[in-house]
Amino acid sequence: MTKTRVQSVAALWQIWSMKSFVTSSKLKAFSTSLINPSNSILMSPSLVSLDCPDLWTCISMQSDHSSIQKYSSKHVAQIIDGKAIADEIRSGIALEVRRMKESIGQVPQLAVILVGQRRDSQTYVRNKKIGSEEVGIKFVMTTLPDNCTEYEVCNALQNYNENSSVHGIILQLPLPQHLDEGKILSLLSLEKDVDGFHPVNIGNLALLGREPLFIPCTPKGCIELLLRSGIEITGKKAVVIGRSNVVGLPMSLLLQRHHATVTIIHAYTRNPDKIAREADILITAAGVPNLVRGSWLKPGAIVVDVGTNPVEDPECEHGYRLMGDVCFEEASKIASAITPVPGGVGPMTVAMLLYNTLESAKCAFKFT
Ligand code: NAD
Repeated sequence: MTKTRVQSVAALWQIWSMKSFVTSSKLKAFSTSLINPSNSILMSPSLVSLDCPDLWTCISMQSDHSSIQKYSSKHVAQIIDGKAIADEIRSGIALEVRRMKESIGQVPQLAVILVGQRRDSQTYVRNKKIGSEEVGIKFVMTTLPDNCTEYEVCNALQNYNENSSVHGIILQLPLPQHLDEGKILSLLSLEKDVDGFHPVNIGNLALLGREPLFIPCTPKGCIELLLRSGIEITGKKAVVIGRSNVVGLPMSLLLQRHHATVTIIHAYTRNPDKIAREADILITAAGVPNLVRGSWLKPGAIVVDVGTNPVEDPECEHGYRLMGDVCFEEASKIASAITPVPGGVGPMTVAMLLYNTLESAKCAFKFT
C-alpha cells in the first residue's frame, strides 16, 4: 500500500469513527456512498459433494491458465480480514449504545420475524441475536409456523411497525413459497427497514440524488471492507457476479455510487470468465462453490467473496464446511487482496445490521 493510500484510509477511518456516531440515520446510511435471509445466505444451494465437479469447473478447465503461471511462484494475496474489521466496528457500536443508555436511558431494539423451521434461517437469526446482545442492542423475535397465513405475518410486522421501542425489523428470508415476499416487505416501516430491502430504499439507492434510509447490509459490508483496506473504488472496473435483490443488485448500485464502472454476470451470461478477467474489483455472490478459478482473475485484482456455500465434509463437526464462490487457493496466487470464507464478508453483514439498527434508534430518539 502506498503512503498516500495509507493516509487516505486513515483519514476515512477517522471520519467514520468520529463522525459516524453523531450523524442522523439518513445521513449515515448514505455515508457509505460518500466515503461506504442476512437472511440471504438462505439462498445457498443444498449440500454438494466435494468430489462432484459443478458445471463451471468444465468452463474454467478450458480457459487460459497463463495468468496463474505468471503469478503463482511467489505471489500471495493480502487477506482482507473481515472478522477483525467487523470486531472493530462492533466495539464502536457497543460504545455508542452505552453512551445512549447513559445519556437518555434508552437502547436500540431489533425485532426479527422468523417463519418456519429452516435450519439455516435459525442459525442466522441466532447469530443476529448473539451479535445484538453483545453490543447491548435489545433483541425480540416472533416465530411463526411454516403453514402460517400471510395475515399472521403481516400482523406480526404491523405490531413491530407500531411499537415505538422497536427500531429495526427483519423479516427473515426466504419465506415459505405460499407467502408473497414482495407484498409483505412493502408493508415494513421504511424507518425500521434495517435490512434495506424495502422497495423504496432499494429504489432510492438506484436513483441519483436520492438517499436510501438504509443500505442492504451485505453490499454495505463489502464496500466498508474495501474502503477500510485502503482500496480505491473510483474509476475502477468492478464486476459483480449475481444479481439477487439481496446482494448482487444492491452491490452493483452501490459500486456505481462509488464511481466504479460496473458489469454484472449472472447465470445466463456467456463467457463469464472473460468478463471477470477484466475486473479490477471482483465481487461474487452466486452461491456456487469454486465458480471463480484463478484463470478468471486479472493479476492483481481485488476479490470479495460473498458466497457462503455449505459443502459436505465428514471431517467437520457438522458434516459440512463453508466454502466461498472463489477457489481460494488459486485466486490467492493471482489476486492482490482477497476475502476468506468464512471470516470475510459474513461478519461484516452482521456488523452492518447492528450499525443500521443503532442509527435507526438514534434517529428515533433524536440522539446525536
Ligand atoms: P441467489 O440465489 O438469490 O442469487 C444468485 C445469483 O447468482 C443469481 O443472480 C444468479 O443469476 C447468479 N448465478 C447463479 N449461478 C451462477 C453461475 N454459475 N454463474 C454466474 N452467475 C450465477 O443468492 P444470494 O442470496 O444473492 O446469495 C448468493 C451467495 O451469497 C450465497 O452463497 C449466499 O449464501 C451468500 N450470501 C452471503 C452473505 C454473507 O453475509 N456472507 C449474505 C448474503 C448471501
